[in-house]
Formats: sequence, C-alpha cells, structure tokens
Amino acid sequence: MSFESKKNIKIFDTLTNQLQDLKTLEENILKIYVCGPTVYDRPHLGNARSIVVYDLFYRFFLQIFDKVIYVRNITDVDDKINQSAKEQNISIQELTQKILEFFYQDINALNVLKPTFEPKVTENIPEIINIIQKLLDNKNAYIEKGHVLFDVASYKDYGKLSNRKIDELISGARVEIADYKNNPLDFVLWKPASPNDDISSVFQSPWGEGRPGWHIECSAMSFKFLGENFDIHGGGADLQFPHHENEIAQSCSAHLGSNYASYWIHNGFLTVDGEKMSKSLKNFITVNDLIKAGINGSTIRLMLLSSHYRKPFDFNQKVLQDSQKTLEKFHEIFDEEFIEKIPQNQSNKPSPEILSFLGDDLNFSKVLAFLHLQLKSLKTNNDSQKLLEFIGNLKFLGIFDKKFIKNNLTKSDFNVENFDQQNKSSKNLANIDANFIENQIALRQKYKAEKNFEKADEIRLQLRESGILIEDKPNGITTFSVK
Ligand SMILES: [Zn+2]
Repeated sequence: MSFESKKNIKIFDTLTNQLQDLKTLEENILKIYVCGPTVYDRPHLGNARSIVVYDLFYRFFLQIFDKVIYVRNITDVDDKINQSAKEQNISIQELTQKILEFFYQDINALNVLKPTFEPKVTENIPEIINIIQKLLDNKNAYIEKGHVLFDVASYKDYGKLSNRKIDELISGARVEIADYKNNPLDFVLWKPASPNDDISSVFQSPWGEGRPGWHIECSAMSFKFLGENFDIHGGGADLQFPHHENEIAQSCSAHLGSNYASYWIHNGFLTVDGEKMSKSLKNFITVNDLIKAGINGSTIRLMLLSSHYRKPFDFNQKVLQDSQKTLEKFHEIFDEEFIEKIPQNQSNKPSPEILSFLGDDLNFSKVLAFLHLQLKSLKTNNDSQKLLEFIGNLKFLGIFDKKFIKNNLTKSDFNVENFDQQNKSSKNLANIDANFIENQIALRQKYKAEKNFEKADEIRLQLRESGILIEDKPNGITTFSVK
C-alpha cells in the first residue's frame, strides 16, 4: 500500500468521541494493545466477538504497515480464578492451564491469528511491582490495611475516557466501597493475601505477600512491550469504565508526560435474542457450544463480524443461518481440483477495495457487499485470476473454509437447521446442548442401522454419564430426558 492510503485510515476514537484519521507515532509501525481474556471460564460469544474484531483490525494493519506490534494479555491472576479453582477443587495452575487450552482451541477454530505478544500476569509480577512503586513514589498511591490503592483525586484528568466528572462517576457506577479506601473510586493496585489462598496466587512484594489488582497489569504489560506511548488501545465497551479509565490514570501518573494510547477503540456488547447474555438467564453461549452443535468456526467468525463492530450484536438463529448461507454461496464457485492447485500461502492478499473499506472504521458490510459483487461477476466470467483474487479476499478475512466446498460437505458440518428447530422448542442454552444430544442420537441410530451395537451402546452410556437418559419408543423415535 502507498503512504497515501495510510493517511486515509479512519477509526472511531472513544476518547475524543469522534472519527479520527489514524496517525501513528512512528511512520510504518503500528502498536496496539487489547485487553485479553481472564482464564477462568471457556470463551463465550461476547469474548469471541472482541477477539475476532481485533483480529480483523490486526489483519488489516498487517497489510498497511511494515511492522505491527499487537499485544493481547492473559489475566491468569484474578479473584474469579481463585474462586472457580476452589469450587472445582483444583489448583489455580490446573484451572488456568485447562482454560487456556480451551481458549486456543476455540479461537483457533475462529481462524484468529496469534498476536505478537501474549504476556501473562504471572510472568510479569516484577514489572507490575515496579509501576506500583513508581505510583507510590509519585504520591499517586497510598497504603492502607495491607492494600496499595490508587488515589483517584491525584489524577486531574480522571474521567476523560468516560467523559464524566468524578462525582458523576461515584454516583453512577457500582464501585466497591471499602473501609481501606479514602475515596470510593480509589482502586486496588496490590491486594494482601488471605491465609487460605492457593500458594500459586501469592507473590512477594515490598508491601507484603499478595497479588496485583486487575487494572495495573495492563499498564505494566503495555509499557513493557509497547513503551510509554503507543497508538491504539482496544477492548470491549464494558471495559471503558472503570478498567480503561484506571489504566490511563495509572500509566499517565507513573510516566509523567505520557499520553498512553493515542486512540481508544471499543467494540459493542453482545446480546442473545435481544437479551443480555448472562448465566442467570441461561442464555450463556460459548464458542464451544456452537462448535459441538456442528457449526463451523468460520460461520461463527463471519457471524460475529456481520454487524458493525461498535454496534451491539444480537446473536439469534437468523444471523447464524444467514452467515452459513453466505459462506455456502461464497464457496460454491470453487471446485476442489482448482483449490488443490493453488500453492499454499500464495493467495491471501486482499483486493485494494477491501482495504479501503476496512480503513473506513472497519466497514465490514461494504466488504461483504463487495464480495457478493465479485462473486456475481465470477459467475459470468470464471477467470482464474479473478478467482484467485476472490480466494485471496476470503483467506485474508479468515473465512475461507474448504469444508464449504461442495464435495467436502458432510452432514455434521451443516446443521444450523437442526439448531433452529431446537431453538424454537426450548429457548435457552439447553437447546444447544439438546442439539448436541440430537446429533449423538442420530449417530447412534446410524450405528444401530449398521448393526454396530457396541458403538451405539457406547453413545448411550456416554450420554448417561452426562446425566442424559435416552429412550427408544415403539414408533422408532428416540427421546431423551435429563436425569
Ligand atoms: Zn486491560
């Protein structure tokens, strides 16, 4: 790309609340930090949306800049982790290792590229201690009852990202009131250990044994990998306050004269059938739930990108089905023989038009419209060069999937329709599990028809172990019930 196109990148910056021309601190280098997962639970669709959105930004920036440094942290020290490990009666390490494996398994299915750096909190404790010490030295922090706290009143720009005054923030936000805080908005930088804490969540510090608060890790790790000032900071809209507000206060107070990130990007919330996704509403859907139901990762990826990244995204049956149909359509032009002949990695460059749409605050709907146009012209003029360009676009966007090429279609890859029926019959998370169970029952019927009773019984026993009882009715239909 020419420098001209670099000058034309527009992104919506939350800090100034308007569309801005992206100007990087160093020519041809882009530095971006995005808040990553807290590894206590498998990624749900809301987490996945954020990961996929920043993956698309990353892929775009890689095409534009000579060098992109993308940091996405891993929070492996957190109260939620301690609690979950305790509930499951396993060590913290066992839990975080297991969840991290699940995390990669799930996001790999969504074709997410690896960031340049993925620092873990547990591997950056000295850096975290250093920055806390700086805040104490600069009189932006104080020690009270074994806690080190950030003194919000010491940072005059506090509230600039959320565009609110300190007193509005106090009355409007749910901030933890505690007797060790001078001000309700003050937040923990270092927390003392409790006597029954798992030893792997206890670290030595000048202020006694304990662990870091959540906000400080991002200030410490962005500084380590990107420096005092960098170009873009991203994350979900739910992180804007207090997490990102606190990051700015910490970093700008520790590194005097620093601006921290030049631009702030926030992706919108995810809802399920119009409702907020939560465990209590039983509409909490993980990437793995959909994959287990036989839905391709590329379908999930396209679906999560299908509405503009800043807008709320509503997960429902229709968007899932539409994404699948779109991918089927995009792949029907290919035959396997042609695909086999293309050397690996040869064609994953996007068309310049796609780059210009993405440069317009990641306008994905224009990208999709362009792909439909390309497909239309390919149908009348099946030119192999154009076909290569089309594959290049799909590969670049991470939505090229050989499984969609006609000869590769297998039933288990395509059961959005099943998912739909289940969705109509019972409107909650159980429908996804129900879909999985239906698949297992169908597989068992197949084994029975093949007189492979051993395999058929294995499925019945496996389901029983998960608390699902199946019953063969005289009319040949198998039903199931939850134990
Ligand atoms: Zn963060």
